[in-house]
Amino acid sequence: MTTSVTGWIAVAGLGPGDAALITPEVSTALAEATDIVGYGPYVARVAERAGLTLHATDNRVELERASHALTLAAEGRRVVVVSSGDPGVFAMAAAVFEALEQGPPDWRDLDIRVLPGITAMLAASARAGAPLGHDFCAINLSDNLKPWPLIERRLRLAAEADFAMAFYNPRSKARPHGFERVLEVLREACGPDRLILFARAVSTPQEELKVVSLREARAEMADMRTMVIVGSSLTRLIERPRGAILYTPRSAG
Ligand code: SAH
Repeated sequence: MTTSVTGWIAVAGLGPGDAALITPEVSTALAEATDIVGYGPYVARVAERAGLTLHATDNRVELERASHALTLAAEGRRVVVVSSGDPGVFAMAAAVFEALEQGPPDWRDLDIRVLPGITAMLAASARAGAPLGHDFCAINLSDNLKPWPLIERRLRLAAEADFAMAFYNPRSKARPHGFERVLEVLREACGPDRLILFARAVSTPQEELKVVSLREARAEMADMRTMVIVGSSLTRLIERPRGAILYTPRSAG
């Protein structure tokens, strides 16, 4: 296989949903692309036009999708691999590099760029106020790619270190009970008064935000379109007539 000098691959983040939250850099790459590769619902967010081929795939075949994108770029195509939010956060950028590492040596000559996007955690936190204003961590609650005991261990250690925590993929039909267990662990480790934010479909017409205590939190408050943020021990609410603000002060200790 010969690598064309004109082909390239950009792994781009489309942000949380609203087109206004797509960066100009990503819009330019989409405008120059010959091929868009990604999970169906994300590919559907890219406008069709003459000369653009859309390759929509299932969500579970990340490595195959990444290899396909690299193959197209090696053939001289201009390929944008799309993810929601940021492509480096539990998304396609790492999958593309995994495929690159395992693939034919000439793929390493390809022009590959990662174009950042606004990740769901930051979009959700901005809507609520500033719950991630001090130290925090992000955890993917799906056990598709890691064993469940590792998730519980990270939860307990993050709670012990008093991080605010941002949870991606909190609950799905395939994993109905995991998030109940997460809430149990958190109640035990953080106490029942700790604040928790459920931010659903942020920046879309279905957006819905709810802040409750861990005592009041129920597993059903989250689904696969929800970002969950648990505050640190210092995270609090400023009540006001226009709606409460959730924030974590800059200093601790
Ligand atoms: N790369 C994406 C995350 C992919 S994991 C990013 O950077 O945002 C998918 C998870 O992201 C979902 O299960 C949900 O927890 C979260 N998510 C994505 N878009 C969201 C949105 N608009 N509102 C709330 N959560 C969202």
